[in-house]
Amino acid sequence: MLEVADALAEVLARCRPITDRTGLGFGTTGYVLAADVLADLDSPAWDKSLRDGYAVRSADAGDRRVVEQIAAGSVPAKVVGDGECARIFTGAPIPDGADAVVMQEDAGVLADGRVRINGPIRPGQWVFPRGAEMRAGEVVAPAGTVITPAGVGLLAAVGCIDVPVFYRPWVSVLATGSELVDCGLTPGPGQIRNTNEPMLEAQVASAGGVPTTVIPAGDDLPGLRRAVESALSTQVVILSGGVSVGDYDLVPQVLAELGVEIHFRQVRMKPGKPLLFGTKGDTLVFGLPGNPVGAFVCFELFVRPALRKLAGHADPGPRTVRLPLAVAVAEVNDRPTYRPAKLEVADVGWEVRPLPWGGAPDLRSLLTADALVVLPAADARYDRGTPVPVVLLG
Ligand code: AMP
Ligand code: MG
Repeated sequence: MLEVADALAEVLARCRPITDRTGLGFGTTGYVLAADVLADLDSPAWDKSLRDGYAVRSADAGDRRVVEQIAAGSVPAKVVGDGECARIFTGAPIPDGADAVVMQEDAGVLADGRVRINGPIRPGQWVFPRGAEMRAGEVVAPAGTVITPAGVGLLAAVGCIDVPVFYRPWVSVLATGSELVDCGLTPGPGQIRNTNEPMLEAQVASAGGVPTTVIPAGDDLPGLRRAVESALSTQVVILSGGVSVGDYDLVPQVLAELGVEIHFRQVRMKPGKPLLFGTKGDTLVFGLPGNPVGAFVCFELFVRPALRKLAGHADPGPRTVRLPLAVAVAEVNDRPTYRPAKLEVADVGWEVRPLPWGGAPDLRSLLTADALVVLPAADARYDRGTPVPVVLLG
């Protein structure tokens, strides 16, 4: 049986990111740049006033005649000569001849219209020189950058409206099990609501993937075959249920029949031991356990990193840190165990508190979890303050 780290390495080795382009807008946030983005122009494109006031020659003394007015959006028509200045506003180009701006608060207009400057003038004051922010041809955002809202602004500033990015993987979510009914219905005898499908779709979306629903399939070969076949048209397929070793666990057989090469079927972990990973061409197939906590945890440990790698992230995760336990914990495990937990700030810094957990079927313990505490396979007691590995969720 594979260890978690080896299974993850196996998955990540088979993720092939695809490059794409997307239009610039608020929805560009979260994409990863697939190529360097360069400045197309110097910014600012001219020496620019940083204040409302007067553009002056700093070496001049005495009162100055105003030769013109330059608002943002217009260009100077005159040269500022000896004994002259130009009325100027924030963002407007500095006229030739001038080398500094005096704020209007530091100047007074005389009765004859001339301007008197109070105090000394430093050359270059309140002038943002051409190219100070960026030069044409300079890389402003390298490939691999995750686009934030500020990044959207920067791309807009350099006119990059057709943004080179990595493709956000399309992901089919297919829940299997003859006991499943739609979550909008009241289950009849022996039936349960299909919890996993909306949950896994929410996880896919939060990982930057694009979820698509496939109608759930029962535990019968023809129905399952049809459903899996249609799911295989996307870059990633997530199945839940039917991957274990029971008589009705038909997923491995159907995948093999449809030409999916199965790389592993079990991982040494709890919850989630039955975890299948296969590929057909570049399509990745995950068979997650049916129990919702197992499905959730396996998604976080294997599928989220795969989706992040496909979307171009250099650090696919899962993000793991070491934190002291906020409470003593006793555990008897035959496999490494991932327990829902909550991060807390204590006087000493961050700590992690395992949440009360009723075992694998207990989805409620995950409701407020923002981490998973990793406890090794052992019969052991851990004192409060013991540092433990912690997987950060989301
Ligand atoms: P399986 O992996 O198919 O053996 O299912 C394990 C357990 O998870 C069983 O109790 C199933 O009823 C339950 N289960 C399977 N699929 C789902 C689902 N989509 N939503 C909620 N529970 C499920
Ligand atoms: Mg089942």
